Amino acid sequence: MKTIAVLTSGGDAPGMNAAIRAVVRNGIYKGCRIIGIKQGYHGLIRGNMTEMNLSSVADIIHRGGTILQTARSEEFMTEEGRKKALYALKIFNVDGLVVIGGDGSFKGAQKLTELGVPTIGIPGTIDNDLRYTDYTIGFDTAVNTVMDAIGKIRDTSTSHGRANIIEVMGRHCGDIALYSGLAGGAESIIVPEVGFDINQVCNKLIKGRNRGKLHSIIILAEGVGGAMELGDHIKEMTGIDTRVTILGHLQRGGSPTFQDRLLASKMGARAVDLLLEGKSGLALGSSGMDLIEVEYDRVFNQEKEFDMDTYDLANILSI
Ligand code: ATP
Repeated sequence: MKTIAVLTSGGDAPGMNAAIRAVVRNGIYKGCRIIGIKQGYHGLIRGNMTEMNLSSVADIIHRGGTILQTARSEEFMTEEGRKKALYALKIFNVDGLVVIGGDGSFKGAQKLTELGVPTIGIPGTIDNDLRYTDYTIGFDTAVNTVMDAIGKIRDTSTSHGRANIIEVMGRHCGDIALYSGLAGGAESIIVPEVGFDINQVCNKLIKGRNRGKLHSIIILAEGVGGAMELGDHIKEMTGIDTRVTILGHLQRGGSPTFQDRLLASKMGARAVDLLLEGKSGLALGSSGMDLIEVEYDRVFNQEKEFDMDTYDLANILSI
């Protein structure tokens, strides 16, 4: 019997629980013993690990967050810390490890693989900031959460004839802003990947106002920053009452969407299969409807390409 361990690391993302569930259930189905590691690499170093059974993952597929909790660990970045991690994995007789997290977590997994521990990475982050995969687990839910917020803010903006800047997450990646902005019918989308002209944003607002538009939504990616200053500037230049909403951490929670549950379930199960086939040092991703596996180095050495076609389309549709 093989022993497979699983941990979640870095920022949490809706759908991580569905991935954990798939690792545990497929692992047990294939005759493995499954160990859950609490609080990512931080917990691994401390041996915060327990065996999981079928009921450990009952009733979690629809829950946001991660039942294993997540953490960032400075100690794991050191050789000493990783030695402790290795020791804990030996004590629990772990034959393979599934790491659910972002590219930082994959770097940690790669270090363990270099030390002889077979690992498979599952991309769990709302940011969708990894080039090698179409989607990361949690992104679809976050976009839907923002879309829902846009609808609500639009209602009140219309009543008062206001403009609204909505700042969304994504760190240096503008994907959440782009796709929620397009799907939410935002007037302007401002992302770190594309420069923006404040005069253009204001002209659009004024044109909209002149043709009787009662609201304007501007989606601003957090990577650009300066939401409050932008609001003041727009108010000053257009005379339109402009409010700012920073959505913040509510984008990281909530019940995962069908897309995220599906992706997480497929990836969790595949990670176990790959380990049982003797594969290691691979990150799972999606390409169209298919799952793909790439070596960790391909994750780190590729700059994410921004979807300019969709950005241009959003601009055309919001004239
Ligand atoms: P998110 O995209 O949500 O931020 P992430 O996985 O990229 O997720 P990080 O904070 O970058 O989040 O990494 C998570 C943890 O992985 C770190 O706290 C650290 O313990 C480990 N880690 C990151 N980079 C390295 C590295 N170069 N070597 C060893 N371990 C690393």
